[in-house]
Amino acid sequence: MPSGRCGTAVMGGTFNPIHHGHLRSAVDILEHFQFKTVRMLPCFQPVHKDQPEVTADQRLQMVELGIQADVRLEVDPREIIREGASYTRDTLQELRQELGDEEPLIMVVGMDSFLSLPTWFHWQDLLQFAHILVISRPGWEPDFISSLEEFYEKHRAEHVAELQCAPAGKIWMESFTPLAISSSQVRKLCREGKSIAYLVPETIQRFIEAHSLYK
Ligand code: ATP
Repeated sequence: MPSGRCGTAVMGGTFNPIHHGHLRSAVDILEHFQFKTVRMLPCFQPVHKDQPEVTADQRLQMVELGIQADVRLEVDPREIIREGASYTRDTLQELRQELGDEEPLIMVVGMDSFLSLPTWFHWQDLLQFAHILVISRPGWEPDFISSLEEFYEKHRAEHVAELQCAPAGKIWMESFTPLAISSSQVRKLCREGKSIAYLVPETIQRFIEAHSLYK
């Protein structure tokens, strides 16, 4: 690992399935910031979405296949091992205990997820454990409801370096390669018997075909 790198970024999601929107965002984060790693963290049971029709283990396998192309990416299976409802607060608290009090921990969310933050379990506590890095997503604008606007204004970093100077507590927004890809679009194309080429890595495409997923 090059010297000067610090901080662990985690990108939670259902990854049903993982696609190039997730993967390119993770690579953009690695290229743009001096974090040590980006961990993809698939949930066991999404709290705000329908239960996926594929197993948690299959989603995890697809994440493992997806990150293979870049050694700087990691997978963190803790929510799948833990089972039950996957509350981000619990996960960040666990990660904080493991990383110690000093290491910057950065929770990465797309703009759509950030807009829904006020519906998350104990959302105002999340900054005790981590920073929040909000990444742009085509089709989603930063139109915050008042509680989120207040939260953002109170905690936003003045400078990007603040994410690496403190262990937690700041919010930063960043725009990266705009890729209008979603897992729902991939599932819909599969259901319609259409190609998902170039939306997901070839390894994922083969996995989906081999296991007849999303029919
Ligand atoms: P679905 O279509 O089933 O709702 P999704 O494509 O939003 O799924 P998730 O696994 O729920 O995928 O997303 C995990 C995280 O990645 C979220 O924070 C989401 O905002 C972000 N994300 C997903 N796709 C993109 C994208 N194309 N660009 C930027 N961020 C993304």
